[in-house]
Amino acid sequence: MSDATAKKEERRKFQAIKGTRDILPPETELWNRVEQTADEVFATFGYGEIRLPIFEPTDLFARAVGGETDIVSKEMYAFEDFDTYEFSELLEQRTALLTWQVPPLGTQVFEPFIIYTKSFYELAARSFNLRRIPATPGNQSALDDILRLQDKLQSVHGQGAEKSAPLVAQIKERVRDVRIGDSLALRPEATASVCRAYIEHNMQQLPQPVKLYYTGPMFRRERPQKGRYRQFYQIGAEILGGTDAPGIDAEVIEMLMTFFDKVGLQGATLYINSIGHNALECRRGYVEKLKAALEQVKDKLGADSQRRIDTNPLRVLDSKLESEQAIIATLPHIADHLCDECKTHYAEVKRQLQVRGVLYQENWRLVRGLDYYMRTTFEITAPGLGSQNAVCGGGRYDGLVELLGGPPTKGIGFAIGEDRLILSLQERAKSEGPNSPLATRHSPLLYIAWMGERAYATAIRAAKDLRKAGFSVELPPVEQKFGKALGQADKLGARYALILGDNEVSEALWTLKTLADGTQQKLTEPDLLQFLRDQKPVSS
Ligand code: AMP
Repeated sequence: MSDATAKKEERRKFQAIKGTRDILPPETELWNRVEQTADEVFATFGYGEIRLPIFEPTDLFARAVGGETDIVSKEMYAFEDFDTYEFSELLEQRTALLTWQVPPLGTQVFEPFIIYTKSFYELAARSFNLRRIPATPGNQSALDDILRLQDKLQSVHGQGAEKSAPLVAQIKERVRDVRIGDSLALRPEATASVCRAYIEHNMQQLPQPVKLYYTGPMFRRERPQKGRYRQFYQIGAEILGGTDAPGIDAEVIEMLMTFFDKVGLQGATLYINSIGHNALECRRGYVEKLKAALEQVKDKLGADSQRRIDTNPLRVLDSKLESEQAIIATLPHIADHLCDECKTHYAEVKRQLQVRGVLYQENWRLVRGLDYYMRTTFEITAPGLGSQNAVCGGGRYDGLVELLGGPPTKGIGFAIGEDRLILSLQERAKSEGPNSPLATRHSPLLYIAWMGERAYATAIRAAKDLRKAGFSVELPPVEQKFGKALGQADKLGARYALILGDNEVSEALWTLKTLADGTQQKLTEPDLLQFLRDQKPVSS
C-alpha cells in the first residue's frame, strides 16, 4: 500500500454495514411506543418478558430451524469462539501451516511443511483427547485424515512436487476443518432460544403453560431491500407447556390483533391455515400426494421448485414466481387431507376466532416446511410495504422442545417484524399529516435564556424542577446574550423561552416568551409550572 493510499484508508469514513442501519430520533420514539404497547398488551394476557443472549451455539439453530433451510445454510452469522491466549500455540502452528507456500517447481523442499503438520497434529490430537477442543466426530475425522495424509506426504517426499503439492493442499483443507473453538452464531430468530431456556431452567415444573415474550435484534445475511435487513428486530411470544387446546391458538392470535389495533396498524390482514400433524394419515399422506402431483407438472416448474419436489415439497407452495402460480392453484389442498383430530382442531380454532371477533382469511398455501410445525399456522400482512408485506408469522410447534432435548411439550408462538410494522405505521402517519395519532409527540421544549451568575444558579434550579415535572428543558452551559439565546431556541424548535436575568431573579417573576408569536408574560415559578401543564403536547 502506498503512503497516500494508507493515509486515505486511515481517513476513510466508517459506514454502517450493509443491511444494518441506525435508527435515529425522532423515529426511535415510535419504536419505543411500539415496544411499550407490546409490553402492556402482552402483560394483560399474562405474558412475562424473557431477555435472551444474542448468540447461541450454531447447532441450536441448525437443529431448531433446520440445517437445510436458507436461514441456517446460507444466512447465519456464525463464528468460531475460543480463547486466543489458551490456544496461542495451536493457532500459531495452524497459521504457519496454512500460509506455507509450495516451493517453485523443480525443488522438493517439503520438509518444513511436514514438520509443521506433525507438530500441529500432535498438539491438536492431545487437545482433542483432553477435550480442550471440541471432541466432535468432525474433528475426529479431520485429525485422522491429517495423520493419514501426512504419512502419505512423507512417503512420496523426494519424488517431485507433482506428487507432494496435491497432498499439501488436502492437508491444508483438513487443517482448516479442525474446529478449535465452539461454533456460535448470532441468532437468526428467537424461538429456539426460548425453548432452550425453557428446558435449561426446568420451566416445565412451573404452572403450565409458560407464556413468554421477547424483543430484540435478529441477524440473517439476506439480500437487503425495503423491509428486509441483515439486522432486523422482532417482537415475539411463545406459549410452552400445558395443552394444545384450540383456545390457546385463538387467544394468541387475538392478542396479536389486539396489539396491532392498539399500536395503530390499519389494514392488517390475518391469514390462517392448518398443516395437520406429521403422520401418514395426515400431513405425510398429503405430502406424498402433493409430491405425486408435482411430479406430473415438474417440467413446467422453475429450478428451485423442481429441487424442492424431492427436498421439501411443501415449500413449493411458498413460491412467489409468477409463472408457477397457475400450476400451484391446481395442486391438492391440505385441508382435504387432514386427519379427524386435526380437522376438528382447525374448525374449533376458526370458531373461537369468530367468537373473539377476530376476522381472518384462510390461505391453504401457508405452510412451514419443518416437521415439528403442526396444525395452526398464521401470517399477518400490512399495507405500504411492497413485496415484503408480512409483518408477522407464527404457528404451533409441538415437537420442538423435545427435538432440543426437553420433555414432550406443546408450543405455539409468533414473531412480528418490528421494522416492517414501523414502516407501515410511518406510511399511515405520513398520509394523515401532523394530526395523525401516530405523529411523534414531544413535551413542549423550553429553552432557558440566562445572563449573570445569580441567574445561572436560578436557571439550574428551575431546569431541575421543570424536568422533574416531566418537561423537556434545554439549559445552555455558557452565558450568551439574550438575542443569541433566543435565536438558538428558535433553531432547536423550542416552543418557549424562559428569560432569566437579574431583574427576574430579584422580582421572583420570570419572563416566558412564546416563540411562535413573540408574546411574553411574567409568571411566578408555580404559575409557570401550571401554565406548562395546561399545554398540549406538540406533534412533529
Ligand atoms: P420468520 O422468523 O421468518 O417467520 O419471520 C417473522 C417476521 O419477521 C416476518 O413476517 C417479517 O416481518 C420479519 N422478518 C423476517 N426476516 C426479516 C428481515 N430480513 N428483515 C426484516 N424483517 C424480517
